[in-house]
Order: sequence, then C-alpha cells, then structure tokens
Amino acid sequence: MAVSATGFGFSDALDVLRRVFGYESFRGAQQEIIDHVTAGGDALVLMPTGGGKSLCYQVPALLRPGVGVVISPLIALMQDQVDALRAVGVRAGFLNSTQDPAQRREVESAFLAGKLDLLYLAPERLRVESTGILLDRGAISLFAIDEAHCVSQWGHDFRPDYLALSALHQRWPTVPRIALTATATKATHAEIAARLNLAGARHFVASFDRPNIQYRIVSKTEPKRRLLELLHTEHSGDAGIVYCLTRASVEKTTQFLIDNGIEALAYHAGLDTQTRAANQARFLREDGLVVVATIAFGMGIDKPDVRFVAHLDLPKSVEGYYQETGRAGRDGLPATAWLAYGLADVVQHRKLIDSSDGDDIHRRRLATHLDAMLALCETVECRRAQMLAYFGQQASPCGNCDTCLWPPQSWDGTIAAQKLLSTVFRLDRERRQRFGAGQVIDILLGKQTPKITQFGHQSLTVFGIGTELRESEWRGVVRQLLAQGLLTVEGDYGTLVLTESSSQVLSRQRRVLLRREPEQPARTVKAARTRSVAPVNLPTEAVPVFDQLRAWRAATAKDQGVPAYVVFHDATLRQIAAEAPASLAELATVSGIGENKLAKYGQQILAILTA
Ligand code: ADP
Ligand code: ZN
Repeated sequence: MAVSATGFGFSDALDVLRRVFGYESFRGAQQEIIDHVTAGGDALVLMPTGGGKSLCYQVPALLRPGVGVVISPLIALMQDQVDALRAVGVRAGFLNSTQDPAQRREVESAFLAGKLDLLYLAPERLRVESTGILLDRGAISLFAIDEAHCVSQWGHDFRPDYLALSALHQRWPTVPRIALTATATKATHAEIAARLNLAGARHFVASFDRPNIQYRIVSKTEPKRRLLELLHTEHSGDAGIVYCLTRASVEKTTQFLIDNGIEALAYHAGLDTQTRAANQARFLREDGLVVVATIAFGMGIDKPDVRFVAHLDLPKSVEGYYQETGRAGRDGLPATAWLAYGLADVVQHRKLIDSSDGDDIHRRRLATHLDAMLALCETVECRRAQMLAYFGQQASPCGNCDTCLWPPQSWDGTIAAQKLLSTVFRLDRERRQRFGAGQVIDILLGKQTPKITQFGHQSLTVFGIGTELRESEWRGVVRQLLAQGLLTVEGDYGTLVLTESSSQVLSRQRRVLLRREPEQPARTVKAARTRSVAPVNLPTEAVPVFDQLRAWRAATAKDQGVPAYVVFHDATLRQIAAEAPASLAELATVSGIGENKLAKYGQQILAILTA
C-alpha cells in the first residue's frame, strides 16, 4: 500500500479514483493505461479533449513512490492545474519562468524532501542544467509529457524545447514516460513516437468521438446576426468561445456582442500580455463569459463547462477545427460546435497559402488540409463520421450533427457545373484579365453591371444561361465545386481556375452531385431540445437550489482565488441539486466529491440544502 504524507493510503487505482477524485469508475482505457504506467511501462496516449487524460498520469503518480514530473507548455495554466490538484488533497507544485527565485526554491525543497506528489515543469526549464541536477537528487515516479504534439514540427503548436525531451530516457532510463495528446492524425502520431523515442512504448488510441458535441456548419449569410441568434435562443448565459481568423475581426465581433448585451472578452496576439492573461483568467474564473479569439487561444484550457464553440471563419484544417471545437463540453454535457463559412473564406485561405513561407511541399500540404476542411463543410453525409474517418476511425451516422438532424437534399448539379465551368473556361481564354466568382455568377445570371459592360461580357455565349438558380445558389455551386476539386482559386482576387478534373465534367464523363442548402432548421425545435438556461436533466423544483449552489461556488472560488470549476464542476452541483443528499454519507456518493472536498465543503453544502 502506498501511503502519502497527505494521509491517503491507497490500495489500488480505483481506490485513488474514488477517494481522491470522487469518481465511481474509470472511463475507456484509463484503467489499462494507469495499470501499465504504474507497473513502470512507457505509454503514448491519444485521447480526445475531455477524454480524461490527466488521470492517466495523476493516478500512477500517486501510486508509485516518488514525484510525478509533468512537462507542460501551458505556463499560464499551471497555477490553475496545481490549485485543482490541491483542492482534492494532492500535493502539487510547479516550476516555470513566472516565479521569483524564492518561490522556486520553496518548490525545489518540497520536491527534494519528498513532499510533492506532482511537479509541473515548463519544457524550457529542462534546458537549464540546474534542473537536471535537481531532478537527479530527488525521486521521480514518472515523466508525463502533456500536449505531446508540441514536438511535431508541422503542427501549429510546435515548441522547440520539446525536441530536447527525447533525452529524458537517456538520463533517467528507469523512469516510465507517458506522452499524451489530443491530436489524432496518423502523421502526428508517428512523429511523436519517433521524436520522443517512444518506439518501445505501448500506444493507446482512444475513440476520438465526442458524442455530446453537436456539430453544425452553416453558410455565411449574416454570420454575426446568426451567431447572436444562436447565443440568444440556445446558449443564453453560457460560457463559450468564438473563433475569428484575424485580430481585426476579433475586435469587431467582441464589440458587436457587447453592443448586443453579451458579456464578451477579446483574446489575440496583438493585445498586451497583461490584458490577454486577465481576459483568460476571467473566462476561466467567472461563469457565463464569451471569449472572442484567434486560434492563439485555447490550448490546455480545461474549463469543463464551455457550452459552445463558434467559428466565424473557416479553420485551416480538420485537425485544427477538431481541436478548437473539442474545447466545448469537456464535462460530457450537451454542447454546440457551430461554424459559418462562405466563398470568401476559401479565397482568403488560398491567398494565405500562396503567400506563405516555405517550399512547394509545404504549400501543397496546407492546400490538402484546406481541401479536407472544405469537403467536411460541403458533405451531405454525417459530419462526425467524416471527421472520424479523417482520423482513421469508423463511425455510423451520429444523429447529433446538422446533416443527420436535418438531412440536406442532394441534386444532380452536372448541368449547372458545366455551365459554370464553361464560363470560367471562356474567361480564362481571354487571359489578359481574370475574374472571381462574383463576375462569373453575374455572367451566368445575365446581369448588366458596369463591369460586365466594361469587358463586353454580355456578348459571351454563356451570358444569361444560368437564370434557373439564384445568386446564393450559384455561390453554393462554386463552393462545392471547390470542395470537390473541380475548380480552384488563385491570386489576390480569388480568380476561378479550372483543374485537371474539370474537363471530366465538361466532357460529360463525370456526374456532379450537389447539396441543396437546407432551409434553416426550425428554431423552436432546437431551442426546446438544448436550451441551457434551465440546466439539463434538472427537475424544475431543483433549479433554485442549483442556482444557490452556483452562487455559493462563485463566492467560495473568489475567496480562494481559483476558478469556479476547481471548487466543483457544474455536473457535480447539478447532481447535488437533483438528489438533495441529506447526510455527508449520501453527499459522498455524488460524482466529483472525494474525501478532501467532502471534509472541506460537506457541511456548507448540507446547510444550503436544508436552508
Ligand atoms: P483531457 O485532459 O483529456 O482533455 P481531462 O483530464 O481534463 O481531459 O478530463 C476531462 C473531464 O472529465 C474532467 O472534468 C475530469 O475531471 C473528468 N473525468 C476524467 N475521468 C473521469 C472519470 N473516470 N469519471 C468521471 N469524470 C472523469
Ligand atoms: Zn451525424
């Protein structure tokens, strides 16, 4: 039996889970991973955000003698992580560049005296030899390498300091290593194993499905207004993240939301460090804030109750989209992933790719990523199944994405595609001047605009041959041809250009199936189903109690200077409100209440319940 100085004496992993964390059973492969690492084995764990990776190293660290050393790039979040562990009675500390020498010395001596269960370490600390010497002098139970995809040079989270982590094994060959990431593609998986020297490790690849997240992708007409509608009808009072591509659109969107009565905060690299840190801290600590951000925001944000992630611009890749949306609903309760995208996004992304640094191979790789993202946007199949297929996992239609809930109709768009492609072909032959989607569609619709007259396009044989579709429908056709690789865009003005496959359509060798833009799903149906003002699964009479518990939690968290979820998760408060336990023993059976929190807060909660 392992006994820690905190007074815990554990018989096994399940004992740790129940008494420290207050959870009843392990999820998925957690137990297997924990057993493997506790026995001294190396592991590489691929598990989606919210899958429960932290326990995979925290539990073995509590069972094995010595201190578990966690390498993490998330310096700004270390304090919160440590606070969350301390709240359940685990002795945790961190070492990073934000500390002064005195604070660092304090942690170091706790480490050497064996008074820590877990030590969080920024990767750059390992560059300093004094850190190596420190680790040599203490007893290490395991190395956990969190956010292990940071070792991948192709990913957007690359950290040079991660490359040095391959040396851990040489210096401490008997200490087990567990690397964890939520990034799922085969390429990243292989790269992590190679760069971290984990060839001999056992690989655990979880299902990447996040069934509680409802995926929805809509076309970009009045995106801000539709976002606002989403927030008002389905997510009023909820915490959420809105992603935009540029700083300018982050600023504009934040102001728009504030003007419309939503409490919103901006986050992007152009803000000074202090403002950014303050906004992140507020988002984590307070209930129901919306953060509007560039993708610089979010890695490691383990706020469990983010109820929606909205994208106002097209993400660069399915992988990025999946990471970003994965930040919703870590607590397993229903959450929404909503994306608005349009033709202009495609043009902008192609432009970014064309002007990006790096060689042709790099640019081709970026283009492949974008194509997969477009295909996801334009699919008539289940979005979830398509995403999982992208990660090499099979799934049947999920019933919880827009294409499953409101199946789009497909139609034979071969003739429309031929009309559009031959217009592009005619324009391309003029060579001197190249045109974007706007002009092509105006020609098809036979519009007499100044630009049509200027270039004499009214005399083209294709002029006015496409009046059977509306402008918005033609835009849909263009987007889908782009997504199917039958058309591409080039240059600053988003010139439409034929591809090698275009000729198959023009010569009638290939049929083109297109999706019809679905009518906006009936709002009332959605609103009734996922409306989150009244918490899910809570009987009406329990709602006031839940609100009281939330208010108590907010005050308690503020008092201690920790995020609200460190005190209790929403799911825990919800269960308390619903079951109204009458004694400490009954309270102890609620998920998320371990021995430490029961001792600390038990009486206060019972007092609220009996008041
Ligand atoms: P990840 O790091 O994989 O994104 P976390 O480790 O933060 O996920 O876990 C996600 C959420 O699930 C956390 O709120 C955590 O407390 C909870 N959780 C993890 N494992 C279990 C379990 N076995 N039973 C109940 N809740 C769990
Ligand atoms: Zn689906």
